[in-house]
Amino acid sequence: MPTKKELISLIIPCYNEEESIPVFYEETSKVMEKMKEVDFELIFINDGSKDKTLEILRSLSKKDKRVRYISFSRNFGKEAGMYAGLEAVTGDYAAIMDVDLQDPPEKLIEMYEILQKEDVDCVALYTESHEGYNWIRKSLTSLWYKLIDKISNSHQVAGARDFRLMRRQVVDALLDLKEYNRYTKGMFGFVGFETKWLSYEAPDRAAGTSKFNLRKLIKYAMEGIVAFSTTPLLLSAYIGILFCVIAFITILFIIAKTLIFGDPTSGWPSMVCIIVFVSGIQLFFLGIIGMYLSKIYLEVKHRPVYLIKETEKTRPGEKK
Ligand code: UDP
Ligand code: MG
Repeated sequence: MPTKKELISLIIPCYNEEESIPVFYEETSKVMEKMKEVDFELIFINDGSKDKTLEILRSLSKKDKRVRYISFSRNFGKEAGMYAGLEAVTGDYAAIMDVDLQDPPEKLIEMYEILQKEDVDCVALYTESHEGYNWIRKSLTSLWYKLIDKISNSHQVAGARDFRLMRRQVVDALLDLKEYNRYTKGMFGFVGFETKWLSYEAPDRAAGTSKFNLRKLIKYAMEGIVAFSTTPLLLSAYIGILFCVIAFITILFIIAKTLIFGDPTSGWPSMVCIIVFVSGIQLFFLGIIGMYLSKIYLEVKHRPVYLIKETEKTRPGEKK
């Protein structure tokens, strides 16, 4: 009797990707053709797209039984998409991939081989060059990775993509982290396991445009910091202490000065400067505390990370 083939589940978050999905499917089919020793399952997540993404996914899943899809009730963001995918996988291995071919499907061959031969649990990709991203985004990204690696308790590789092939065990570990504010890049560091990093050149998008604008990226970066580091909270305490010390020394200085030279009423402009500066610092750190507070608020509400409207099993007009 032939032994059962292993199953690789691909998780593919899609948001307004009507142009990319057919190209992605074509490229991935070639790879699946080459990897005959394994079975595949493609789980597309339709993250509240407003274009024809859902229709394309419906017809793909009708045509090819390996294609599954989960369609959200609205746009919940890529993090929610990845989580939904991880919850849905049934494979022995799972990989998260962008649909725009910036995570080349051919890499799966090499990644699977490594998992077969070497004693690692996860094969991940990082890139040193981001074709197609402008210099502002490139330099901000590299700066941010340096910062987050310093201040957070989970190691993050610079230029890490979300593209990685992992064993079932790693998927289960990620699912054990039940938090609402999900920052997957940090979560991989947190759960541990042996990860092998491969460098590659990230190509430009195959079709369509990037779904992350600067505003979305800054929000994502903030989430990463707040989710995996409490350093900003400590920072406010340190700066507070520093200001107390400076104020104390200044008071001593003013007392000494008054005793020696008398008290001519001058210097109110510098006073105003100091007041403005100090209140600015206070507001800044109140903001930081507010950021953590808002995350705690969302966390205690226990809202679902995503809501499903339709899957390949509950297609409209078809019986369950
Ligand atoms: N994506 C998503 N929900 C969103 C934004 C993006 O599911 O709200 C998906 C998108 O369809 C793509 C992947 O996340 O498959 C990466 O997005 P994109 O390529 O636009 O980001 P970039 O490569 O520019 O960082
Ligand atoms: Mg992309």
